[in-house]
Amino acid sequence: MLTLYNTLSRKKEPFRPLDAGNVRIYVCGPTVYDFAHIGNARPVIVFDVLYRLLRHHYGPKHVTYVRNITDVDDKINARAAEEYPKLPLNEAIRLVTEKTEKQFHEDMRALGALPPTTEPRATEHIAEMKAMIETLVKRGCAYVAEGHVLFDVASMPDYGKLSGRSLDEMIAGARVEVAPFKKDPTDFVLWKPSKPGEPSWPSPCGIAEPGRPGWHIECSAMAAAHLGETFDIHGGGIDLVFPHHENEIAQSRCANATPIMARVWMHNGFLQVEGEKMAKSLGNFVTVHQLLTGWQGYAWPGEALRFNMLRTHYRQPLDWTLVGLDTAHKTLWEWYDDLEGKPPAGGVPDAVLDALSDDLNTPKAITELHKLHSAGHWGTLRAALDFLGFSCDRAKIVRTASAEGQAQLRLNAETVGERIEARNAARKAKNFKEADRIRDELEAMGITLKDAKDPKTGEPVTTWEVAR
Ligand SMILES: [Zn+2]
Repeated sequence: MLTLYNTLSRKKEPFRPLDAGNVRIYVCGPTVYDFAHIGNARPVIVFDVLYRLLRHHYGPKHVTYVRNITDVDDKINARAAEEYPKLPLNEAIRLVTEKTEKQFHEDMRALGALPPTTEPRATEHIAEMKAMIETLVKRGCAYVAEGHVLFDVASMPDYGKLSGRSLDEMIAGARVEVAPFKKDPTDFVLWKPSKPGEPSWPSPCGIAEPGRPGWHIECSAMAAAHLGETFDIHGGGIDLVFPHHENEIAQSRCANATPIMARVWMHNGFLQVEGEKMAKSLGNFVTVHQLLTGWQGYAWPGEALRFNMLRTHYRQPLDWTLVGLDTAHKTLWEWYDDLEGKPPAGGVPDAVLDALSDDLNTPKAITELHKLHSAGHWGTLRAALDFLGFSCDRAKIVRTASAEGQAQLRLNAETVGERIEARNAARKAKNFKEADRIRDELEAMGITLKDAKDPKTGEPVTTWEVAR
């Protein structure tokens, strides 16, 4: 049996799909204006594991996984104008979104994530958004003001249920945009006017000037178009609970007159880097592309990123560290070596499935993998790794030094050579204190010395290696 933690009820619940013949899940996808950072990769990996598990429980043909692409957004407009100042804005936007979407797909493929069933684009669903907005106005849940359409939060008595916040807290805690034309500061934008040159479509609700949709309505419209008015699971990062998901629920439930939008709401925890909040201003912003091509001296294989991510339970905050990533890589490296030439056998072991079925307990599942490895149960270990999206092919997880890492290694080789010579000179002069000091110094750099004697000459020979 599968149990999942539901943000809406704040407890773990047995999962029962609305229709076992078509289990439906929606996850908020990227806004395509920049490289995906490692925090963006977390929901992709987490919900990929859920997708695989649902396919296992209900059959691959009976799961529909929708992850949207937000290709109309103010951040995209700003980036396009900045990157291609000489091009007409719409042309620049196309260049930015196409390039970013391609990069996103490449990165997520490298992380071993299966493509979703459908990846709808916001710009392909403007008609559905407009229809939903018209309905909301007709039902008295939204109003037109100065070329905008706004959702009337007061029209929904149980608004705020997902985040569990009172209206006062919402106003205080979020960057609620105060505008003179809003009836209430918490009312949010469904549609807004576009300036000349900005992406625009003919507006709904009799508004004369052209405009564009707000972000929240995009997901409501795309989810309804591809999954229906109510569906099973809606997922995303915890930062989306308020206001994005709260507003998706408000729009969908009020437009469709349904008591729920999705039955289960799942949110992955925050991600920080080396114990600090990740921010461009702090200089610790890490993109997936960077990790794959050069981070801390190495180009890391995508499978190591995936494994490192799964070592922490999805609802816990995750600290992305070099030590953690290195440990993840080392584990896979060892396992893949042992698994060479050993085919999967016996199917995915129950202990692994049980751990995953308990609210995606991936750390527990990994403990089970370690047990299989220790016991030498190669066939089942292989089957479990296949299921979790790992290739078991050592050639695919070679960790190479990045350009910066190679320069560092060359530098080390020179330094190490000089230090070894100095140490041997000290030993010859019987200055053992100095010899030991140099050895300790190198040890601190992660370099282990091995002393031996040349069998022919009897001279001391020292070799070194970088400790893993
Ligand atoms: Zn969304």
